Amino acid sequence: MEKENYLGVDVCKTDMEGVLDEIDEIVRERRPSFIVAINPEKIMKAIKDEKLKNLLNSAAIQIADGVGVVIASKLKGGKIKSRVTGIDLMQNICKRSAEKGYRVFLLGAKPGVAERAAEILRERYKGINIVGIRDGYFKDENELLGYIEDKNPDVMFVAMGSPAQELFITRNMDRLKIPVSMGVGGSYDVICG
Ligand code: UDP
Repeated sequence: MEKENYLGVDVCKTDMEGVLDEIDEIVRERRPSFIVAINPEKIMKAIKDEKLKNLLNSAAIQIADGVGVVIASKLKGGKIKSRVTGIDLMQNICKRSAEKGYRVFLLGAKPGVAERAAEILRERYKGINIVGIRDGYFKDENELLGYIEDKNPDVMFVAMGSPAQELFITRNMDRLKIPVSMGVGGSYDVICG
């Protein structure tokens, strides 16, 4: 994907449709990849933290989550015309998953929250195949990984806050081999209202 670079951090130029098309391709190719939402706060953290910068840049897709990134692009004569927020992308991926039959796993947030979010998503995106749900306060990561492997998802949302969720995803990507993983912060709490 074509990217612009802000203070060392890559951001994709593509709009929502482009991101969704790329996701379809990633699932088709079964290429383990992750998506990260970029905002100025994360860029500021990455300036001081080389490891975090490398982690963000190792994502297949970096979306321009913050309006600050769009403004910076405009000032630089770049091509990022609109935000692709994490919550919007998550909902669009759910819609696409319902259409294409992707297997979706919800990980993260306090016990019960992801279950309630799943109920709302099932209501909103009829036919969505949510194959597994686990909260983000697990004690035994190895047991959790076995559970996720069993469910064999195409898409995994991880709502554990940043950078914990990105670290979880990258630490376990080789083992889980899930095509699309995405850190979604407090999105389940937002969906539950
Ligand atoms: N969370 C979790 N496990 C933890 C710590 C936090 O699952 O060990 C969840 C928390 O319940 C909340 C989300 O992670 O649902 C964090 O949301 P926050 O808004 O802080 O994340 P941000 O969007 O700011 O990165």
